[in-house]
Amino acid sequence: MDNKVIDALRGLLDADELLLPGDLNFEKYGKDETEDLYFAPHVVVRPKSVESVQAVVRVADQFVIPLVSRGGGTGLSGGALPVKGGIVLSTERLNRILEIDCENFFVRVEPGVITQVLQEEVDAIGLFYPVDPASRGSCTIGGNVAEGAGGPRALKYGTTKDYVFGVDVVLANGELVRYGGKRLKDVTGFNMVQLFVGSEGTLGVIVGITLKLLPLPTHRRTLMAPFPTLESAASAVPAILQRGVIPCALEFMEQACLKAIEQRRGEAVPHSNAAATLLIEVDGNHEETLDREMEIIGEVLFEHGAFDVDVADGPTKQAELWAMRRAAGEAVKGISPYKEEDTVVPRANLPKLVNGVHEICDRHGVRMICYGHAGDGNIHVNLLRGDSLQDEWNERCAKAIPEIFELTVSLGGTISGEHGIGFVQKNYLHQGLSDVAIESMRAVKQALDPKGILNPAKIFPDP
Ligand SMILES: Cc1cc2nc3c(=O)[nH]c(=O)nc-3n(C[C@H](O)[C@H](O)[C@H](O)COP(=O)(O)OP(=O)(O)OC[C@H]3O[C@@H](n4cnc5c(N)ncnc54)[C@H](O)[C@@H]3O)c2cc1C
Repeated sequence: MDNKVIDALRGLLDADELLLPGDLNFEKYGKDETEDLYFAPHVVVRPKSVESVQAVVRVADQFVIPLVSRGGGTGLSGGALPVKGGIVLSTERLNRILEIDCENFFVRVEPGVITQVLQEEVDAIGLFYPVDPASRGSCTIGGNVAEGAGGPRALKYGTTKDYVFGVDVVLANGELVRYGGKRLKDVTGFNMVQLFVGSEGTLGVIVGITLKLLPLPTHRRTLMAPFPTLESAASAVPAILQRGVIPCALEFMEQACLKAIEQRRGEAVPHSNAAATLLIEVDGNHEETLDREMEIIGEVLFEHGAFDVDVADGPTKQAELWAMRRAAGEAVKGISPYKEEDTVVPRANLPKLVNGVHEICDRHGVRMICYGHAGDGNIHVNLLRGDSLQDEWNERCAKAIPEIFELTVSLGGTISGEHGIGFVQKNYLHQGLSDVAIESMRAVKQALDPKGILNPAKIFPDP
């Protein structure tokens, strides 16, 4: 990178807003949670104000340099990786909750607020921000918006998109624009707010977010049920909803996933000998209703072959079950190098998806562990390298992954439910979208970022 760029940034930022190679922690900005990929940025900025963000974007625009926004760096599709070098703009210091509006049920935040911090702040005053990615202790609201993050509660409460009502964005030329706000209804022009949900840092830097809040549900019930086969667990999922109950979470873990959690935590996990388990939670304000819902769920689970229905007897046990579920990602990825696919299908096709991905991976000799948000039809398929040689594993994955996506699409699904396309899925985009759809998205990108400086080499397939 030209020294003129660094000089320009030095002239605009405080010394502690700028990191250069060799500075403490510089390396961490070259990776996220995607496989073991690393790309060195040329420079890292950590702006403390929106004005500083604008100044940095103007420098990137002037010198035509890549600029990659970064939140918590927990992404699983390589979105925050500076694959073309350039400037990494971390939002870690833009981390203030600006306003909690208890009358209108909205909160305004800077992008670097950690999701769990926001949840706990609003929870303390009886309000609820339901979007609950398993990474909530380290991901940011800005990253959640940019990825359209989901999580276990999406089944009843939806995903990030259902809560974002306003975004403040620094555009590629450094101008600040505000879309939406604390309004439940707004059809004044295009729905630009939602355009930025899932935009993966390619259309602008999100510097302010207005989120809808809900009243905090007062009660919840949680259970875990073991099953003899993957299909029996998967087939119970649509059946529960058909009986008129909408759990707030309905999670699926297969045996190998529970074993990985046991190994990672060095302690026994309930029902780890079952072929698969479901973790189910209902919430609301009326205990009798929840008890009746639990009875109905129990009946359906037994009808579908559950060995047992293990109801958590209080908050401690509930917290333990969720801590176990949240550990799944790191436990599975800790086994060996991996590639993770984020398949999603209409819920009723879940048994076909789960069976199908196992059949494909067995046929190609790839070890695979799956778990995920069964209630949403969203299953994370982890391909593990194990002891295979790198080249051999790459070859096998290159055959298995397109087949997994082909199956997913044939079942009415698509190639990413919540992790985004980013860097590692971009060359599969044509399996999830038509050529016309991809070209229309390229046109939007071209209109908002004509020089192509914002998070280049992401989402769109290599030419
Ligand atoms: C253990 C584990 C569990 C996970 N569980 C879930 C889950 O349950 N559900 C789920 O949906 N995801 C999950 N994820 C994935 C990840 O946490 C989410 O994608 C999350 O939204 C990323 O947020 P982040 O702040 O870490 O963003 P980063 O990884 O830093 O960035 C992600 C993308 O957002 C862009 N971006 C970040 N901030 C901004 C901004 N201010 N303006 C514009 N673009 C920006 C980046 O350029 C990048 O493209 C999990 C990850 C891990 C490691």
